[in-house]
Amino acid sequence: MDFTLSEEHQMLLDTVDKIGRDFPREYYVEHAKTQTFPQEQWDALGQAGILGVNTPEEYGGSGMGMLALVLVQERLAEHGVAPLFFVVNQGIAVPSISRHGTDEQKQRWLPAIASGEKRCCFAITEPNAGTNTFKITTTGREEGDHFMLNGSKLFISGINDANQVLVVARTDDGEPGQKARLTLFVVDTDSEGLTWDRMDTMLLNAEGQFFVYFDDVKVPKENVLGEVGGGVNVLFDALNPERMIVAAGSIGGGRHVLNRGTEYANEREIFNGPIGAYQGLQHPMAEAKALLECGSLMVQKAAALQDSGHHAKVVGDIANMGKLVGTDAAFKAADAALQCFGGYGFCESYDMVSHFIGARLGKVAPINREMTLNYIGEFILGLPKSY
Ligand SMILES: Cc1cc2nc3c(=O)[nH]c(=O)nc-3n(C[C@H](O)[C@H](O)[C@H](O)COP(=O)(O)OP(=O)(O)OC[C@H]3O[C@@H](n4cnc5c(N)ncnc54)[C@H](O)[C@@H]3O)c2cc1C
Repeated sequence: MDFTLSEEHQMLLDTVDKIGRDFPREYYVEHAKTQTFPQEQWDALGQAGILGVNTPEEYGGSGMGMLALVLVQERLAEHGVAPLFFVVNQGIAVPSISRHGTDEQKQRWLPAIASGEKRCCFAITEPNAGTNTFKITTTGREEGDHFMLNGSKLFISGINDANQVLVVARTDDGEPGQKARLTLFVVDTDSEGLTWDRMDTMLLNAEGQFFVYFDDVKVPKENVLGEVGGGVNVLFDALNPERMIVAAGSIGGGRHVLNRGTEYANEREIFNGPIGAYQGLQHPMAEAKALLECGSLMVQKAAALQDSGHHAKVVGDIANMGKLVGTDAAFKAADAALQCFGGYGFCESYDMVSHFIGARLGKVAPINREMTLNYIGEFILGLPKSY
């Protein structure tokens, strides 16, 4: 067991650090406030080959795998910017296409994702089917050489800045008493009948969330990813990467906010000496720091297990526990750091509340804390299913 970074990973992180310095938190905040995509940062990541770290080499990436991807996301977040597209594009679309796409599909989509020329977002959530995916009502009806999509989704991140959207739709209700059969479609965002409206979240994100409507959207059969009715199999392979990438972003964000808190607490003097000496401020930050590093180790372990070809269950156990610890730690870090700032923490110019809200999101989306605990209870501890 070797806990040191390889030379290749270290070089990758040196490049990420440079991009992080060139496009710091202020750059992202500016784009979030104007709701514009941080294209210059994306281009820099593309030019440095970072957008293709987990894309196989034969499809234009560097094939460095999941560990490289989580290291990148963790470090970008530490600089204050965790691109949301790393979750849906690199975290969900790339593993799904790489694993389940035909060679033609891989050629069609992966090189453009790796270069940064194209982005893919992900659409599963519906108003009456959040955590319970099998209740979705968006349908894909087979008609000759294509499927016709009808229905609606919500909370779809970044569709306005994406070229494709990976859509989960119901293609068969299944036998009575059985689950619906779902299918994954890669849909061009400029398809006729596909429209969207912005949702009004209170997150400070450059990539917004959207209501998405499918009104007789014609999708060629060659855009079905995996088997018709076999969408769940494709999704299962994307879940572990998604857990890891979300946790990595949270952990890096936690480190960023702790750095902000400690810097301020070392300078601010109210009674005798800096406020950072008060254990009421210092201990929660110390605890958060320890938990962040635990989460980081777990996520790196899950990624390394995935890269070395371990079974998805082995990877999933560690990925879920890492996601739980990492996102909880990030919230503790944001809470503790915010406390240091006193009233100033609530001034917009201090940009602290945005971290607090962002860290809180990690307990809800893309997978809520309770479902992660359900996984651990049921699949690791062997306890009965509760829902
Ligand atoms: C910023 C943001 C970005 C998002 N981006 C995307 C995206 O790009 N694409 C996409 O498809 N979706 C996206 N989502 C949607 C997100 O994945 C869902 O919000 C999430 O899956 C939860 O669904 P829900 O909101 O309907 O909550 P519900 O399913 O209604 O759950 C509500 C709460 O009930 C509890 N709960 C639910 N089920 C159980 C259970 N079995 N056991 C115990 N407790 C339970 C949890 O605490 C949960 O928070 C995004 C959401 C947000 C906020």
